[in-house]
Amino acid sequence: MERYFSDSIQHAVDELSKLPGIGKKSAQRIVFFLLKIPKPNVVELADSLVDIKDKSKFCSVCYNITDTDPCPICSSGRRDQSTICVVEEANDVIALEKTGEYRGLFHVLGGALSPLDGIGPDELRVKELMTRLKEDVQEVIIATNPNTEGEATAIYLAKLIQPLNIKITRIARGIPVGIDIEHADEITLSRAIEGRVTF
Ligand code: ZN
Repeated sequence: MERYFSDSIQHAVDELSKLPGIGKKSAQRIVFFLLKIPKPNVVELADSLVDIKDKSKFCSVCYNITDTDPCPICSSGRRDQSTICVVEEANDVIALEKTGEYRGLFHVLGGALSPLDGIGPDELRVKELMTRLKEDVQEVIIATNPNTEGEATAIYLAKLIQPLNIKITRIARGIPVGIDIEHADEITLSRAIEGRVTF
């Protein structure tokens, strides 16, 4: 491959373009922006990135990303402990929290079933979910994304949970196919939680 940049710039462009949603062009734009701004600002940015790696961990209960374990949601006395909303990623927790509609707990699977990518139930936090259901849980809301993997995951979980006699509901019926929960607007998400249907 032809090299247009110095090694240090090329390195930064390569690293940035590994980020989701950042192509080579955006990476270049970011690098040249960083070259223009004062060094302390760049250090601040770099430090904040290292900081999230040092301080963030998974909540040992719900596997949300948190600074404190258990996370603020799991340790809050004001949440409905009898309802668990199952999502694929920590981003989805943020999206659902923003609606202000949901007052129960969460469980972050860490992805969705995708046999072609080698992601089976053992690669997700399914066992951990099942352990939580032994406590006094009355409803599991399955809020995986409305795509092939999300639907397959929802069906798999529903079958697994069914024998436990817990109410199982599915949101995302109102969310257009192809739109991830993370990207759905708050009104659509609110409606999707409110209008959840029994599996
Ligand atoms: Zn938690």
